[in-house]
Amino acid sequence: MAKKQFKAESKRLLDLMINSIYTNKEIFLRELISNANDAIDKLTYLALTDEAARSAVSDPVIRVDFNKENRTITVTDNGIGMTKEELEENLGTIARSGSLAFKENMTAEEETEAANIIGQFGVGFYSAFMVADKVTVLSRSYKSEQGYKWVSDGIDGYTVTECDKTDVGTVIEMHLKEDTEEVKYSEFCDEYRLKSLIKTYSDYIRHPIIMEVTKYREEGEGDDKKQVSYTEAETVNSRIPLWQKSKNDVTEEELNGFYKDTFYDFEDPILAIQTNAEGLVAYKSLLFVPAKTPYNYYTKDFEKGLKLYSSGVLITDRCEELLPDHFRFVKGVVDSEDLSLNISREMLQQTHQLKTIANGIEKKIKSELKKLMSADREKYEKFFAAFGLQLKYGVVSDFGVNKDKLKDLLIFRSLKEDKYISIAEYIAAMGEDQKHIYYACGDSLSMIGGLPQVELVRDKGYDMLMLTDEVDEFVMQTLRSEGDKDFCSINSEGADLLDKSDEEKAETAEKENKELLEFVKEALSGKVFEVTVSKKLKTHPVCLSTSGPVTLEMEKYFAQMPGDEAQKPKAQRVLELNAAHPVFEKLKAAFDSDKDRAKALSELLYGQALLIAGLDIEDPAAWTETVLGLI
Ligand code: ADP
Repeated sequence: MAKKQFKAESKRLLDLMINSIYTNKEIFLRELISNANDAIDKLTYLALTDEAARSAVSDPVIRVDFNKENRTITVTDNGIGMTKEELEENLGTIARSGSLAFKENMTAEEETEAANIIGQFGVGFYSAFMVADKVTVLSRSYKSEQGYKWVSDGIDGYTVTECDKTDVGTVIEMHLKEDTEEVKYSEFCDEYRLKSLIKTYSDYIRHPIIMEVTKYREEGEGDDKKQVSYTEAETVNSRIPLWQKSKNDVTEEELNGFYKDTFYDFEDPILAIQTNAEGLVAYKSLLFVPAKTPYNYYTKDFEKGLKLYSSGVLITDRCEELLPDHFRFVKGVVDSEDLSLNISREMLQQTHQLKTIANGIEKKIKSELKKLMSADREKYEKFFAAFGLQLKYGVVSDFGVNKDKLKDLLIFRSLKEDKYISIAEYIAAMGEDQKHIYYACGDSLSMIGGLPQVELVRDKGYDMLMLTDEVDEFVMQTLRSEGDKDFCSINSEGADLLDKSDEEKAETAEKENKELLEFVKEALSGKVFEVTVSKKLKTHPVCLSTSGPVTLEMEKYFAQMPGDEAQKPKAQRVLELNAAHPVFEKLKAAFDSDKDRAKALSELLYGQALLIAGLDIEDPAAWTETVLGLI
């Protein structure tokens, strides 16, 4: 009998699939099981209105069997079945709609990539040829008394002949390929392997998947006692997934248990979100925020992504596209019946649908975190301790494109309240006269509290954000402003914390002491850019500030990064002296009568300024000598 050729609109696709060693061959079973599941659904649906379908319906069941000796795996269903014409039409055409955008001249690299993508989504029935060198389909349609047999080796085309088949439904038998160096196809002919493939990919298929499973029982008495094995039909899949249940039917314990089992965590999640979206693309999801930062979170080993299902069938364990980087700590599953398992048909559409889902998920995570922030601040602070840094990186990355989405999730330590507050809370508590949102960066809260300028903030009755993460300075520079209030470092020139009279006094003192200031600058031989009379110091004798765009915090940040020391940005340091402080008088007296002592005092004061700013003294031994000399 002459073989019929495949309608090879895209024969290359088949070749690519079958022969690529990179594709995920094990998905063949998932593809056939979900076809079987669909076939049963179709028959059940038709039975509502069609007499022939009604008489063909029996209890839905999908069977998976294997035969080690014959190297065969069989998937059987009692679904709708196929007529002769349907066998030809459905199984004789590869990638019917051909919408998989296959470029004619793909490079080898592009082909590998395409095979990888297809390998996740599969090409439906044809996936069988990834593991089989011969596929036999026995099918009888509910419309027909006659069964038909479709046989193909995937390359030379196929034949269709009549065969005996007593019941309606389809049997697909795969004869496994010979083992090669790269792939041991015979591994699939194994009870445990098949069972675990069903558990992994088809656990939430609605109809029961039955396998003959090996069991053991004890036989005989006393010395004759022995273990005897036997087989028994068992339903392998658990069928109803948690996310398909209505929200009201799912308890917190169930959600927490599911999270811990699925994502291997010991602790309950800090937040569990169940969604049921019905917009452009319908999907259900379960999302979780872990309670702790994973140990490898900030390393390249950490991989983001959500499990992606299509009507209970696993497409991929980790779909990266579903999560933005700033929420990469979220774990979970997404299931959409609008996504097709079979990517060859609608690859471009799929990409679009994934984006729609990803957008919905991002919005949902944001709104749930926001809700947690107002409903349970203690819990939110715990979340922020684990992943706040991630949110801050999210604000600064990609030149701040996501800052508006993330800024209201940020909380900072407040100077006045001694607790964490959001930007909105800071602004709400601001008085009419306050123009800026003040902040200060430092290594620790106590260090920041000790900054001389903080006194000015306190005196004015303002609040201030106390920032201790390295990235904070960049967060502030990225955010720039909120409404008509800008973020302003208390160290910056525009901080507006001074009273006019103080300012004038300082300016006069600056003029009067010009020579002294010059002298101090020279005494420090190039270590500072400028020495000035401070406008902001109240009780402290000295402090360090900067002039120009690079702040001390940025300098510290860059100092920790690898790279050429000479190339790293350095802050232009300004040593500010408090002209109203008795120490200034001592310095002046020394300048008039004893220049050596004045030089030593200059070094002493500069060292103090460094220490208060959380910086190291460049030469501690020499500095200590100087201090001792003065004593
Ligand atoms: P898809 O399932 O994405 O349409 P497939 O290549 O897997 O693509 O299957 C092609 C068609 O063959 C299906 O749409 C269905 O009509 C038919 N088919 C496949 N398997 C079965 C089955 N077990 N029972 C009945 N029809 C089937």
